[in-house]
Amino acid sequence: MARSRKKNLTTVWVLGDQLNPGIASLRDQDPAETVVFMAESLKRAQSRPYHKQKMAFVWSAMRHFADELRSLGFTVDYHAAKPSYVEPLQEHLKEYRPRQVRIMEPAEFGKGERLSAVVERAGGTAEIVANNQFVSDAAAFEKWAHGRKRLSMETFYRQIRKQTGILMEEDEPAGGSWNYDRLNRETPPADHVFPPIPNFPPDTTTKAVERLVAHELPDNFGDLGGPRLPVTRKDARRFADDFFDQRLDLFGPYEDAIVTGERALYHSLLSSLLNVGLLDPLALCQEAERRYRDGKARLASVEGFIRQIIGWREFVYQVYRLQMPGYALRNHFKAKLPLPSFYWDAETDMKCVADAITAVRTYGTNHHIQRLMVTGNFALIAGIDPQQVNDWYHLAYTDAYEWVVTPNVIGMALFADGGTFATKPYAASANYLNKMSDCCSRCPYNPKTATDEDSCPFNALYWDFVHRTRDALDKNPRMTMIQRAWQKRPEANQKAVLRRARAVRKKLRNGDRV
Ligand code: FAD
Repeated sequence: MARSRKKNLTTVWVLGDQLNPGIASLRDQDPAETVVFMAESLKRAQSRPYHKQKMAFVWSAMRHFADELRSLGFTVDYHAAKPSYVEPLQEHLKEYRPRQVRIMEPAEFGKGERLSAVVERAGGTAEIVANNQFVSDAAAFEKWAHGRKRLSMETFYRQIRKQTGILMEEDEPAGGSWNYDRLNRETPPADHVFPPIPNFPPDTTTKAVERLVAHELPDNFGDLGGPRLPVTRKDARRFADDFFDQRLDLFGPYEDAIVTGERALYHSLLSSLLNVGLLDPLALCQEAERRYRDGKARLASVEGFIRQIIGWREFVYQVYRLQMPGYALRNHFKAKLPLPSFYWDAETDMKCVADAITAVRTYGTNHHIQRLMVTGNFALIAGIDPQQVNDWYHLAYTDAYEWVVTPNVIGMALFADGGTFATKPYAASANYLNKMSDCCSRCPYNPKTATDEDSCPFNALYWDFVHRTRDALDKNPRMTMIQRAWQKRPEANQKAVLRRARAVRKKLRNGDRV
């Protein structure tokens, strides 16, 4: 209580995705004159049926971060499992009487204003300070994007490389090339053994939040248990080091492969940790670069990994900030099929889809190609309502936040923004999936045919998509060849394909098994 009598106290409200002492609202604060406010809101947790593992991960990481701040000398006023933010904040303001409540601008668009309103309703004064969790700068991005019809990730990425000096030799990219994707398209041999992924058994804090989640959010998506992610900064660094030691070198070659039952292949699984602030994007890239300079990891893998973080991750954040609030509502192809029930329960005969959804239920994650080319591609070619798809991705993954889900779903997977940054829709038939995965050999559907009862639904839906979107995409040069291939088909074949696509869509609409 002694603190409550202190004058000139500042409250810093730390959110669940700002778990870093270096955040802009906290980094210059004197612990003696600061009290940190943190709260778990059940109302917020219940706003979508978020994956149970995500809620357990975020709340456990928040509670551990409160301990980290206490060890740095801060007073932390932590409110566990409260109905909403309002009552804890009112109690907090009454007890500490801070002169203001500082909040770092949340990554989610519009949330800063909403939280300021909550502070004011509770009787306090809010100050929002600029977010420093990203490497790139919003004002510079806006200036760069101004007047451009299409935003190119590649151009943006090169600028960030130059600006940060990552993988640069003077003004030239390390190795002489900006991009080594051509070396990164291999599939592993059938007997390839992938390195094990470290597990972080639950401590008493994690066990307590898991009980809380099981009790308060019993009907939410996904399963509790299974391998746990780290929830402290120290363990997050150990987890990242294990990736650098065991998987970075082969990250590139198998980046686009899909292997049944493999949770990570050579991917890092770092997104959930990055997105809550337990890891720093620039520091990860610097470490990856060090592995290359020390001869421990090949350049194509290191560049590929760095491109994901200071390229794609930064880029989608800036696109989202620039295009919101309307961006989340875009629906370029006017798709309106409801989300099929197998996105929830994995009850489908399509092996690649069932595997991806079983993995996300079990682990709270899929790697990029599963998200883009399996569940995303299916939603695109079947014509599922983009907002329902976006909502599902937001609730289903432990690393999902509006700023990262929305551009990836609306822009990248569904082309629902009409191509703000994707040069063409990522639509593919079973041909692609058969080449990049081992799923088709285990699937009852035939990946080679399109019109039969047992033909892989991806095939008819793919050509139906090409047919349906011919007007919407007629000015897209990257679609010309595929359009021609479709036009050249005999009319009887086109009709049979479209008939099969209609039959699949009817089943999806009626909730019949596909
Ligand atoms: P790695 O393959 O090891 O990549 C390294 C890091 O790069 C990732 O941890 C991530 O931080 C970053 N990254 C790579 N690609 C992207 C990208 N396109 N956008 C943003 N960051 C990227 N990522 C999320 O963090 N949260 C999401 O909710 C999310 N939803 C997605 C939805 C769809 C439809 C698609 C196509 C992609 C989505 N991504 C999302 C991007 C990407 O799939 C994940 O970041 C990645 O699979 C996470 O696994 P990883 O950490 O093993 O990644």
